Amino acid sequence: MVAGSGNHTVKNLPEPKNQQRGLFDQPAGQARAERLILHVDIDAFFASVEQLLIPALRNRPVIVGSGVIASCSYEARRFGLAAGMSLHKARRLCPSVVVLDGQYPIYRCFAEHVWSVSRRFVCGLETFLDEGYGDATGMGALHGDPLTLGRKLRDAVRGEVSLPVSVGLGANRMMAKIASSSAKPAPRCSSPQVGVVWIRPGCEQEFLANLPIEKLPGVGRKTGEKLRDMNIETVGQLRTLPLPLLRTMFGRRGELLYERSRGRESRIIRPAALPKTISRETTFHEPLCDRKQICGMLFYLLQRAARTVRKHKLLARCVELTIRYDDWTELSAAKALPYPTDDEKQIFPVVLRALKQLHQRRVALRHVGVVLSRFTGEGQEGELFTPPVRLRRRRLCKAVDTIRDRWGHAAIVSGASIELLGRMRQNDYGFVLRTPSLTK
Ligand SMILES: [Mg+2]
Repeated sequence: MVAGSGNHTVKNLPEPKNQQRGLFDQPAGQARAERLILHVDIDAFFASVEQLLIPALRNRPVIVGSGVIASCSYEARRFGLAAGMSLHKARRLCPSVVVLDGQYPIYRCFAEHVWSVSRRFVCGLETFLDEGYGDATGMGALHGDPLTLGRKLRDAVRGEVSLPVSVGLGANRMMAKIASSSAKPAPRCSSPQVGVVWIRPGCEQEFLANLPIEKLPGVGRKTGEKLRDMNIETVGQLRTLPLPLLRTMFGRRGELLYERSRGRESRIIRPAALPKTISRETTFHEPLCDRKQICGMLFYLLQRAARTVRKHKLLARCVELTIRYDDWTELSAAKALPYPTDDEKQIFPVVLRALKQLHQRRVALRHVGVVLSRFTGEGQEGELFTPPVRLRRRRLCKAVDTIRDRWGHAAIVSGASIELLGRMRQNDYGFVLRTPSLTK
């Protein structure tokens, strides 16, 4: 049986004949670790962020894109607009539509916030731009049955990030994704209500039976056309084709289609690997020779890099400074840190020494950047006792990060970056840098 959540559609399918029970129905002690994969999808992502940032856009048809629609709000979808459609056609179908270019660095910040909330509910999250897969096997003890887990995640994202997400749960990636797409509101539905759908183990075939073949991963336009020529329109009909026939028609992909049409799939979740380097750099709005402002910017970039290092629970052992003069000469110097750290205040003196060594000409700088590298895990400082002053700094950094996670990076401006106040434009995400993809 598949259940929708709250005020969303409840799709009832007959109980499986073999009476297979879900993981959470089984008495304690006998629970088999049935794999439970969760798929989170941010709905109408770019358009939802714009509507969140600009209240005047709420309840209005909004699209983001240049040339073609990259994302469109539910209000726009009511007019038949969809991603991939040309803006020309979109304007013809819905003359009142608001078209925006998009601010991708800001969308990325929102996505990261959604993923950091989602990580509380799953172990290992593989993320893409607006969707993520996580393994929720065994999370029942913490969060309840899969539907409750999905609803908690959706409500947490809605509460903390104010973005709508749909959540799908199933025995593998494919089923989880199919579940989340069926949890989405219908294309012409007026209210952007999103839901949570769990496809119970054993119900995969029934759930897939009436789905159009194109919904199955691996069935593109060409494959779809070929199958439709054979009067195969639903996944249930595809299932009637014998394996040798599919193999002859599509080769190795035919075997995958055979498996997938039965709800089976073996792709695993690959959480993002830990980064090897974390860097922040920017080009100045105007070439700059004021030492105080250059140092202020370096501290600001270092602060942002260190915050990311702390997020990954790493400690850096090396810092590299890069400067580019107005005449495009580029210099860089790498310095080992006296001890592994994630604290910008402890790294900054090393950066200043590198700057003194590199910036010797009386020529303005147009670009600066810092790279932190040679990471080791938190708790591996290689020291028996961490000095109390460093422990205090660590607690302070944690507190500042918590405030910035909640209120934006600009909530606190500290250290040398105070020099930038009044000289650079600021929004909630921090100073507005010229190289936009790096304002994050
Ligand atoms: Mg989406």
